[in-house]
Amino acid sequence: MDDEKSNAGEARETSCTGCGKAAREVPVPVSWVSSHEKGEARYFCENCARENIRAIEGRLDSSWW
Ligand SMILES: [Zn+2]
Repeated sequence: MDDEKSNAGEARETSCTGCGKAAREVPVPVSWVSSHEKGEARYFCENCARENIRAIEGRLDSSWW
């Protein structure tokens, strides 16, 4: 029953906002962290999430990193 869902959306490649590492799972691996900035979803791999967790939790814009 999940086939309909997976076919509905385009296969868009998600990559880490911090280092550009490509996610191999859709939407992202469970170890990744998602952050919403200005209505836009951003994803961070486990490494970047660990380094930037404070900034993410502080809801700071990632542009200054
Ligand atoms: Zn990363």
